[in-house]
Amino acid sequence: MAHGPTHMTGEQFREMAGRVASLIDRYWAGVDERPVRATVSPGALLDALPPRAPEAGEASLDACLADVESLVLPALTHWQSANFFAYFPSNISGPAVLGEFLSAGLGVQGMLWATSPAATELEMRVLDWLGAAIGLPEPFLFGTAGARARGGGVIQGTASDAALAALVAGRWRTLRSLPEADRRGAMPLLTAYTSTQAHSSILKAAMIAGLALGPDDHEQFRLVPVREDLSMDPAAMEAMLREDVARGRLPCFVSATVGTTSSTAADPLDAVGAALRRVCGSTPWLHVDAAHSGSACVCPEHRAIVRGVEFADSFCFNPHKWLLTNFDCNCFWTRDRASLTGAMSVTPEYLRNAPSDAGAVVDYRDWHVPLGRRFRALKLWFVLRYYGLEGLRSHVRLGVRLAALFEELVRSDARFEVAAQRTLNLVCFRLAPRTGESSEQTDARNRDLLERLNATGRLYLSHTVLPGAGAARYVLRMAIGAVRTGEEHVRAAWGLIATCAG
Ligand code: PLP
Repeated sequence: MAHGPTHMTGEQFREMAGRVASLIDRYWAGVDERPVRATVSPGALLDALPPRAPEAGEASLDACLADVESLVLPALTHWQSANFFAYFPSNISGPAVLGEFLSAGLGVQGMLWATSPAATELEMRVLDWLGAAIGLPEPFLFGTAGARARGGGVIQGTASDAALAALVAGRWRTLRSLPEADRRGAMPLLTAYTSTQAHSSILKAAMIAGLALGPDDHEQFRLVPVREDLSMDPAAMEAMLREDVARGRLPCFVSATVGTTSSTAADPLDAVGAALRRVCGSTPWLHVDAAHSGSACVCPEHRAIVRGVEFADSFCFNPHKWLLTNFDCNCFWTRDRASLTGAMSVTPEYLRNAPSDAGAVVDYRDWHVPLGRRFRALKLWFVLRYYGLEGLRSHVRLGVRLAALFEELVRSDARFEVAAQRTLNLVCFRLAPRTGESSEQTDARNRDLLERLNATGRLYLSHTVLPGAGAARYVLRMAIGAVRTGEEHVRAAWGLIATCAG
């Protein structure tokens, strides 16, 4: 008779879990000493790993853990370093890691309420907690209506998933507003809008949904110009909508950004929402992509960036960026669940069950592309309970305060300039143009400075290109908000930047 494999005993598991926890603890304790950006050459790790899986098991993870230390850690970019200032933060925390661990250990699959009621109902409750904590209006929450509410929140993998979900909901709602016979023919007439500064995931969603044939196809995917502060120009959007409607187009989706990737500019939701209503009524979907900056809304003093959110049909942000919660965790709320699930729901016989048929429960499988889903609410629940809202606010406030300090340091040095208005924890800056220097020469000096800085391994910054009155400008981005970053790291970073600038 065939036997199955030999599994870990409970005792072995507890012992190994302790050793993995020690490894993580040691990693955290020493991560600031490592070169922040990975220094390995392409293919180095690939060459160090055997080309085929082992036939015989090792009966222990000792050798594997040794390989983690000797092969894997040196080939990482250390996102958890206090000196990581690139892109946006990718926060983790003890409670979040333990929530992930527990979720893995419980191993439930919460595609339907019935496949693990706790996975669904904890997520509903935690999304209501967080939605209320960032000041979302009641229609975005389940509230006392629970599973029968018209709105509510869900954890999506990423802001990119959320954008796609919102877009297909808007497409569905717009097509449903037409007589049935006209719906299929209306597909080529649908149009979607976002600003030139929006994240590429919005365009990607349009490509996946068939509204753009490629990145340069702007026939149905329309890019709205921005104002001087790099936020969407609502008057330009209104003009575009009017022109499109006059041409017989069917606007179905607008994505406004609160905290653009390049510079954290915030689109004016009130003006964008009002313009959309004026031209198209309430059929097209207004989505708010607050992937990074949404975390700041746990602080009442930062909520001005979402003024007008009551116009929105959906809103999302990533606690996995700046709110102490491990990737992946995008929180997405909608006030119109029916359009979202209308666009996503397919019910084969094998998924049918009595509570779902009775409409008495939330089945999250209908809220996003994947059917299967992890129990991600656990980590968010752990974070919210461990830190409390006060703890989350103090984390955000520290990031903003340190960014203000860094901005001051940049302004105090005549060789540099701040390159975009700072809204929260991101400072865009660059070496200022020298008299008589071309914009290409200024860009080249900045590119060179960034490369020299990152090559030191002592910090990691990223760059972007921002539109300007004249030519576009290459700028450096200093994003502050890693869990370990304190004032000493920001001052040390500035010291290095000022020295490298020569
Ligand atoms: N939207 C904005 C404004 C972002 O800044 C980012 C990433 O930085 C994204 C969307 C994409 O995020 P995700 O990786 O969650 O898809």
